[in-house]
Amino acid sequence: MRLQNKNIMATTAACRRLDSYNHLKELYDKVDEDGKNLTFLCKLCPPAFKKKIRTSVTSTANLKRHIELKHPASLSRYVQANKKSKDSQDRSSTSTQIPLTAYSGSFFISQPQLDHLVVQYIVGDLQPLSKVESPAFINLIKGLQPSKTVVSVIKLIK
Ligand SMILES: [Zn+2]
Repeated sequence: MRLQNKNIMATTAACRRLDSYNHLKELYDKVDEDGKNLTFLCKLCPPAFKKKIRTSVTSTANLKRHIELKHPASLSRYVQANKKSKDSQDRSSTSTQIPLTAYSGSFFISQPQLDHLVVQYIVGDLQPLSKVESPAFINLIKGLQPSKTVVSVIKLIK
């Protein structure tokens, strides 16, 4: 699962190059570009300590991190600007991001899906049927999916 997520992220990042920096102009000046990397100058830093930030053309992670660390008060501005640009810029990447949100956020499965997984576990791992009735197993299911129950699985198997 972890590995799979990583692959999805890599694909998403490759598809979403920073073709437009307009949304960053409020906070950063682009000073250099060498094909793979971009260099920005932070506008929020005091003039004497202007921070240069290098970042990959496929990701603004470094820019965001700098705002988070040094100018937390402006983070919402950055996030807003970034969001606005994404909404108008590339709708195609929005669809590729859906699986990511599903994995990283709350992820709920339906009761039939849960039943199916539990049955697969019992059958595939040659576990005794009594396993699904053990308090430890019930706790596991409750912990993962608080709104679901294993009772229907027990009925299903019996
Ligand atoms: Zn700064």
